[in-house]
Amino acid sequence: MTGASGPKTTDCIFCTTSEPGRDELILVRGRVSYVILNLYPYNNGHLMVVPNRHIATLASMTADEQAEVMRLTRHAEIALTEAYAPQGLNIGINLGKPAGAGVLDHLHVHLVPRWNGDTNFMTAIAETRVLPEDLKSSAAKLRPIFERLSREEDAENAKIAEKKI
Ligand SMILES: [Zn+2]
Repeated sequence: MTGASGPKTTDCIFCTTSEPGRDELILVRGRVSYVILNLYPYNNGHLMVVPNRHIATLASMTADEQAEVMRLTRHAEIALTEAYAPQGLNIGINLGKPAGAGVLDHLHVHLVPRWNGDTNFMTAIAETRVLPEDLKSSAAKLRPIFERLSREEDAENAKIAEKKI
């Protein structure tokens, strides 16, 4: 299901999430993309929206991928707001090493919940990245919200389809 029409590398952390034991961090899977918690988060709730295909740039995205990645980014904003009530959110894409990309050739959108005054905290923990909440708790909190948002959206689309008939 991943990388159906694109090259897939076995050492890419975003291409190997369907392997056994790698599912714990996945929050939701769409048709052409998915949402995953960052294994080395900068803050509680740090997650990423990732296209299934091993592509490096926005330029390489299909219309389907563009639409779904934005849709899941919207769901992520809603889910993080509900679960963590952050005072701000960083949403961004780093392309290339000088721009700070950790995984260079597989595009991903970061969402990082932010709170007033957390910059010092983040700098202090940057080396060890020890966080008060473990990733399993984050997943348990966020996954049901993503599932609910998908259900609500399906129901909404069904209503729209009905009206068109
Ligand atoms: Zn990849």
